[in-house]
Amino acid sequence: MFDTLSDRLTSVLQNLRGKGRLSDADIDATAREIRIALLEADVALPVVRAFIAGVKDRAKGAEVSGALNPAQQVVKIVNEELVGILGGETRRLEHAKNPPTVILLAGLQGSGKTTLSGKLAKWLSGQGHTPMLVACDLQRPNAVTQLQVVGERAGVPVFAPEPGNGTGDPVDVARRSLDEAKRAQHDVVIVDTAGRLGVDEEMMRQAADIRDAVQPDEVLFVVDAMIGQDAVSTAEAFRDGVGFSGVVLTKLDGDARGGAALSVRHVTGQPIMFASNGEKLEDFDVFHPDRMASRILGMGDMLTLIEQAEQAFDADQAEQAAQKLGSGQLTLEDFLEQMQAVRRMGPLQNLLGMLPGANQMKDQLANFDEKHLDRVQAIIHGMTPAERSDPKIINASRRQRIAKGSGVTVSDINDLVNRFFEARKMMQQMAGQFGGFGGGGGKK
Ligand code: GDP
Repeated sequence: MFDTLSDRLTSVLQNLRGKGRLSDADIDATAREIRIALLEADVALPVVRAFIAGVKDRAKGAEVSGALNPAQQVVKIVNEELVGILGGETRRLEHAKNPPTVILLAGLQGSGKTTLSGKLAKWLSGQGHTPMLVACDLQRPNAVTQLQVVGERAGVPVFAPEPGNGTGDPVDVARRSLDEAKRAQHDVVIVDTAGRLGVDEEMMRQAADIRDAVQPDEVLFVVDAMIGQDAVSTAEAFRDGVGFSGVVLTKLDGDARGGAALSVRHVTGQPIMFASNGEKLEDFDVFHPDRMASRILGMGDMLTLIEQAEQAFDADQAEQAAQKLGSGQLTLEDFLEQMQAVRRMGPLQNLLGMLPGANQMKDQLANFDEKHLDRVQAIIHGMTPAERSDPKIINASRRQRIAKGSGVTVSDINDLVNRFFEARKMMQQMAGQFGGFGGGGGKK
């Protein structure tokens, strides 16, 4: 899921890299490409429009952050708009003050309601709740048995009409299930309702009748993310027919384009609360708009990193350091300041772990020793201001003094100084090739 969209967006945003300033024309061109990527991913048109308008407005506006270059700012804006479209804050399940909390599931047949009942029940049990499932899908042959199988796998009881008792009245079953829950002290009741292949009036009426009978705390609309654009019309029909307080996206593991996921929240105004991504009971999680956005942008957790950078770095200082870097004038003092700023962002291991691709370098990350940085800092602290700003003057006797003062060996000093010169040279060469660091994103 989202692979194509993710690839497209990533390459659109990559094209901005290395640009010092973004003109309105650059932003328009980027917006156009994002628009095409979203439409191809099956995102509903009103959602695409709102999204693009948001991105353009903000990218052209005066929203300039000193610590970020223009391309990073656009990434940040696109990410934040994505999070917004996906619902912003993570929405948690509301529990009733007086148990049982009643959760009603509604959705088309095959959307994954029955499977979800089991997933939810297992997840809730894991949190110390005592859920009970209720079989109100009395139309489909085998639906009750299917729920019983799911309940057994999840290790929770299922309330169902007696076998051989005719088809039973789902509204009556639902009502009686609440008495049973109170009697047996189940603090959550999950009611699985009947679905049809397409939306029809009778199904809606039945779901609404069950809703009226049990007064649920949450009505969750379950939607198969693979149905593409149809997700939007189905969601609208359920919103008008039964009403719902949250959405559950299922089959996110399928290789669909993901438009449903990106549209449902905006179109219905209700939050996506859970995501289901497989047939096993464990393939289920609370839906986090921010994590989903990161995933779509293929960013790892870059946003957290960008935000931390904004807080940790002094914009003017960063800009100055970038300029010095390009002209080969970087001093050990600058180096120390930048290193301290990076370290203010948190343990380096965590920072690196947020980078895209960090999974592939897990082992190296695990072996990284923060003490090494302490040593480098101690060495630089042991130098005089003159030595820091012109490391060339650090001769043999100075090296001995510094080593003694900072409790390391002369060869540690040699290492640091040599590597500093090498790095400075490399930075200068790179700056020559790519037209400078920093890119003019500083506060003006
Ligand atoms: P219901 O008719 O709404 O109760 O839907 P079911 O729970 O019976 O699910 C229909 C089919 O979709 C079943 O074969 C499930 O195993 C499958 N299914 C449900 N959720 C997921 C999911 O997240 N991923 C995948 N791949 N299959 C799912």
